[in-house]
Amino acid sequence: MSTYSGENLVNNDKMQIEKITLGPYETNAYVIVCQETKQSVLMDAPAEAETLLEKLKGTTPQYLLLTHSHPDHTGALAKLKETLHVPLGAHPEEAKNLSITPELMLTEGTVITVGKLQLEVLHTPGHTGGSICFKMGDFLFGGDTLFPGGPGKTFSPKGFQQIIESITQKIFTLPEETMVLPGHGDSTVVKKAQEEYLVFSSKKQREDLYGDVLWLS
Ligand SMILES: [Zn+2]
Ligand SMILES: [Zn+2]
Repeated sequence: MSTYSGENLVNNDKMQIEKITLGPYETNAYVIVCQETKQSVLMDAPAEAETLLEKLKGTTPQYLLLTHSHPDHTGALAKLKETLHVPLGAHPEEAKNLSITPELMLTEGTVITVGKLQLEVLHTPGHTGGSICFKMGDFLFGGDTLFPGGPGKTFSPKGFQQIIESITQKIFTLPEETMVLPGHGDSTVVKKAQEEYLVFSSKKQREDLYGDVLWLS
């Protein structure tokens, strides 16, 4: 049975952004299409390759991009890679956890061109060492780095410090109206996340804090 649900987030004369939620962890994949050239990219490969391939129909896929290497984001990777024959892009630190070696190593500042659209890579370690976000105009594809109400899950106090640094130095320096499209659940906006974080950072926190942290609790 398909667990698929989808939502057309943007559909104007320049671009289409479709969110497709798949798998037991309700992971979001995003299909981004340049309307002028019909070139496309798929961001993350959670599950159900057939569903994702269906969403790419009528476009010319250019790349398969990964925000990070966790299994809930890569379950359909092998099948998609085999079918699409497009370069796989990921951060070098995630490559060791992937069954397929990325042809495209994505690091801070890498720019990916999809027709008339450009995606810029931000290296945002914390959830994993090679977690990355992709900035495209007013949108940020955030992977598991920032969610509505809190940062992504971290696995050590050091990881938590890293994710806070990534969020405050790389994401909070973007225009406040930037919409963050995360790897799970609903989107948020930089301004709202900044306001929530301010409440968190104004209170004294345990030094060994990590895990599933919410800004407001
Ligand atoms: Zn993850
Ligand atoms: Zn995830």
